Amino acid sequence: MTSGGDSPGMNAAIRAVVRTCAYYHTECVGYYRGYQGMINNEYIPLNARSVRNIINQGGTILQSARSKDFRTEEGRSRAAENLKKAEVDAMILIGGDGTFRGGLALSQEHDIPVIGVPGTIDNDINGTNYAIGYDTALNTVVEAIDKIRDTASSHNRLFFVEVMGRDAGFIALNSGIGAGAEEILIPEEDLGVERLLDSLERSRRAGKTSSIVVVSEGDKTGKNVFELADYVKKNLPYYDARVTVLGHIQRGGRPTCFDRVLASRLSVKAVELLLDGKKNLMVGMLNNEIEACSLDLALKGKHTINKDLLRISEILST
Ligand code: ATP
Repeated sequence: MTSGGDSPGMNAAIRAVVRTCAYYHTECVGYYRGYQGMINNEYIPLNARSVRNIINQGGTILQSARSKDFRTEEGRSRAAENLKKAEVDAMILIGGDGTFRGGLALSQEHDIPVIGVPGTIDNDINGTNYAIGYDTALNTVVEAIDKIRDTASSHNRLFFVEVMGRDAGFIALNSGIGAGAEEILIPEEDLGVERLLDSLERSRRAGKTSSIVVVSEGDKTGKNVFELADYVKKNLPYYDARVTVLGHIQRGGRPTCFDRVLASRLSVKAVELLLDGKKNLMVGMLNNEIEACSLDLALKGKHTINKDLLRISEILST
């Protein structure tokens, strides 16, 4: 099943799970809408042919949901009863940390083995360098900023571009460097609004014809992206500052080759681990190798950004 926020590449993961099961002569069903589908007993048998032509599709054919009911013991008991009636022996959960938290609770309370496959554009999961969907989201953001840059330089404008990431600045930091942003504001680092003003003033003096500031949803300046733009307009009136909020386009689109391969590698491993009798693990990619870690570790640890990227960004926006 796929659960929580959807991410491009989830279909490639579903396909790989189903085909690996077929390869090993193991029956496979897909639950709709994450944990809510387990509670409502909505599932579909899947075979190798059911997943044809989906590797290149964004979204998830099984759909996703956030389930309030599953957060209660009663909800999880209903889900477990349904799983037992359907003779489900084990589950592969494609989603983010909330999905894994729910899976661990299900496994501990009802003894159903689970393996997590990290799929979230935020890339904030410990135990893997990359989560499925992150690379596609980055490319979507960079393409959007490239377009914004065209109009920004034609009019000598300053653009604030808000990207997803309430708690993690992976998208902002990497897309910012990839798109040549002048400044990047992320939740992990409070650079302060005064520093932003200094930097924009320097950009103007350096003769730049446009400026892009990439702002993570959860940045720590204490101002939202519109307030930031107003603040800059007030303090640096020569700037014609505009705001673009990229929003949900970041979740959509065809997965990049990187995400398709990542999803395929992680999902084959996930099925093989289950068939090998392993449980309550998450598969991840570390230094280009597929590795498994305990779901506990994935949930307790923190995947931190590489702060050297901030330094790189500062040097390159000179
Ligand atoms: P993303 O971070 O990309 O949004 P996610 O998997 O973290 O993905 P959540 O909405 O946090 O998304 O979690 C998905 C679902 O997992 C929730 O809707 C809920 O049903 C279940 N869940 C989350 N946390 C718990 C928990 N502590 N106990 C039981 N179930 C949980």
